[in-house]
This record gives sequence, C-alpha cells and structure tokens, in this order.
Amino acid sequence: MRLSVAGGQPELWLRLGREIPYPTGQLRSVTLVCEAGRLFLDVTSAVPVAVHDIDPGRVAGVDVGIIHPFAAASGDAALFVSGRAIRAEERLHLADTKARASHMGRKAPRRGQRGSRRWRKLRAAQRRAETKHRRRVRLAHHQAAKSVVTWALERRVGTLAIGDLAGITTRSLGRHQNLRLRQWRRTHLVGAMRDKAQAAGIQVFKVDERATSSTCPQCGSRTTKPRGRNFACPSCGHQEHRDIVGARNIAAHSGGTTRTPVRVTHRRAGHVPARRDRRRHLWDQRRSSPAPGRPVTTGESLTGEPNRSPRFGDGSRPYRWSPGEDHASSLTTSATPARRCTRAMPRVVPRCR
Ligand SMILES: [Zn+2]
Repeated sequence: MRLSVAGGQPELWLRLGREIPYPTGQLRSVTLVCEAGRLFLDVTSAVPVAVHDIDPGRVAGVDVGIIHPFAAASGDAALFVSGRAIRAEERLHLADTKARASHMGRKAPRRGQRGSRRWRKLRAAQRRAETKHRRRVRLAHHQAAKSVVTWALERRVGTLAIGDLAGITTRSLGRHQNLRLRQWRRTHLVGAMRDKAQAAGIQVFKVDERATSSTCPQCGSRTTKPRGRNFACPSCGHQEHRDIVGARNIAAHSGGTTRTPVRVTHRRAGHVPARRDRRRHLWDQRRSSPAPGRPVTTGESLTGEPNRSPRFGDGSRPYRWSPGEDHASSLTTSATPARRCTRAMPRVVPRCR
C-alpha cells in the first residue's frame, strides 16, 4: 500500500501484515501509527448499516459500570457482562509497573544520562508494557460491546438507552475510587458500544443516570444507595442486583418496560491474564490486607506454625498466604530453612479468583 507524503519526498510503500478488511472504495482515511516501536495502520471505512429484524419501540436500558462493563435489561430479560478479566488486567499491570519501577529505580539513568542506551531500553520496555495493556483493555471493551449488541439483536431491541457518565469525576470520592474511575476508559467503552450498535441499525441515546441505582424499579420509591451489589427496597421488599436495578430504571426513563428478569444471560469480556503471563508472580501480592468481611486465610506454614496474619516479613512487603505458595512466603520469613523452599516450590500457580 502506498501512503501519500509531502510533495518532493520519496514514495512511502507499506507491506501489510494482513489485508485491509474493507473494500477499497469504502475507505475514508488511513493513518500510520507508531506505538512502542510497532507500526499500525489506522483505517476508517464507511460500513453499510446492517438490516436486522428489530423493533425501534423495544427499549433496553444499559447500565455502564466497572465491575460489570454493561448490564442491560429489556422486558423480562437481562444481560450481565463481567469485567473481571479487565480488572485483573488492570491490577496486574499496576503491580507490574510498580515492581518494574522499584526494581529499576536504582539502575535507572540520572537526568544527565537521558538518551543513553540504557535510558532508551528502559523507556522502550515501559512503552511496550503500556501499549500491550492498552490493547488488551480495548479488545475487552469491544468484546463487551459486541455481546450487548448481539443480545439486543436476539431480542429484537431497536433502541438502547445508556446511562450518561458525564461529570462522574467532578467530585472527589477518595483516593482509591478516584483512581478506579480515572483508569476506567469509559469513553472508549461507551464509544465501542455506540459504534457497534449503530452499525447494526440500533438507535443509541444517553439518559441521565442520576438516582437510577437508588430507586426501586418495582414501586418507584427512593432509597439510599445500596452499599453492596444487592439492592433491597425498604418499602416493598423487592430485591435485585444493583446493576440490573440501574438498567431497569434507565429503560423506564426512556419509555421501556421491564419486569423482574426471568432470563439472565451472563457474558465475559477480555481474557484473565494467562498462567504463563510474565507478570503472574505479582498476582498473589495484590491484596495488601483482606477485604472487610472476608475471612483471613489461615494455613499451616512449613515450620508447622499456623499463619494467623496475612502479613509477613518486615511489613514492607505485604503478602497474603494461600495454599501452595510456601516458597514465596518463605522468601519473606527468615525462619524457614532455605533448602526447604526449593522442595516446596510449586510447579504451577493455579488460581483465578
Ligand atoms: Zn420497592
């Protein structure tokens, strides 16, 4: 493929890794992108709107969230898309970034050494990790959006009402929640969904989502925001998952009717980091303290003493003990003889929480 360049410059020819999946006549723009040393071709193409047998009067409400990227409700059907894999990827990437920074901290070049070979290698490794992470999250968003559109087409839903997320970062919600909200990439998530829906001929519009998670979808009474994942109405006793409550209220704001879901579909988006993932050794260090209400895992250590506390060593490296992790805990407890670590070294780390 030949790209246009400034006048008088030599021609720029590209050999593509795969064919452009659109007919040449439909192409609108082509941009050459460089991400972490890899070249990509960003292609925009006009795509005909697919004709499906859908009913524009049938409205589904879509609640956008972090734990469930999408929760949708229409009639007596509901859809959950789990974002667990995306959050796993995000946590692992954060842990990897921190570990990389602390490991390379003393080796990293000083200011005056910018542009040195080591500096270039370090920056390249950082960029590679960043872009890989970004691609994984984006792919997962597209998968989540696709499962919503597929679900909507199966139910002949012609209109999707999405909760409007504008302004959710205007007030501070504390260190952790602020980070979560800003890492969320919600614009990309909603954009992916809007594009796919429009290509399928489904109308999409945004709805103010205020109070949608604190209103009872059965009797309409306002309650306080639910603390956990379950919504319970103090007036009529109705109980439901809070994301479905949000989706039902959004549907109700847009002229849709919903009932308590009878058919609930569950879908997943993204891939949980593979067992062979290079960052996987960071997987078990991720919880610095047990979550409130969650029982502390206790087990027998190699020395025969039960581990009462999830913290080990000098306290600077929080570690949560779990079965099969003896070698890692012994790295931080000096009491364990070194030769026993090698014997207790597990071959695999089978876990996916
Ligand atoms: Zn109620």
